[in-house]
Amino acid sequence: MKKLFEPFAYINSIFDITPDMLKNNGIYGLILDIDNTLVATNVKDAGERVGQFIKDLKDNGIKHVIVSNGHKHRVEEFCRPLEIEYIYKAYKPLGRGFDKAIRIMNLSKNQIAIIGDQLFTDVLGGNLKGIRSILIKPIDPDEPIFVKFKRIFEKPFLRKKEYKDKF
Ligand SMILES: [Mg+2]
Repeated sequence: MKKLFEPFAYINSIFDITPDMLKNNGIYGLILDIDNTLVATNVKDAGERVGQFIKDLKDNGIKHVIVSNGHKHRVEEFCRPLEIEYIYKAYKPLGRGFDKAIRIMNLSKNQIAIIGDQLFTDVLGGNLKGIRSILIKPIDPDEPIFVKFKRIFEKPFLRKKEYKDKF
């Protein structure tokens, strides 16, 4: 059971991930979380740095779809300026959002990774679906109360684990 909560990699920040790192690991498609992965939960727009990250993916032929548990307005507002495919109210860790994203990217599961900050949604969801998961250190410690609650249960799984800049 513990394996279900074991990410493929622990990375400090999305900005430590380069297209070359992904390709070297045979990853050609990303499922991306928004909140506390790309931006803090209270940040509406992607901003320049995330915009550049997405552009680098595009320029290097790494496919990408946002899969968020967030509501329609939040996810649309974030994704539209980026001209990026998105799935809102995905109910991660359940598989429906993942299935859609995999279909959109039209890649095999072993070519796809999910990047997210939560063990019980992003990592568990990816592992249940049979795709690799990359756990990101949450951007903003000031999280909604239900997320804080979930973090308590993440702790035993994350103990002694170190976030790194490379995988
Ligand atoms: Mg998140």
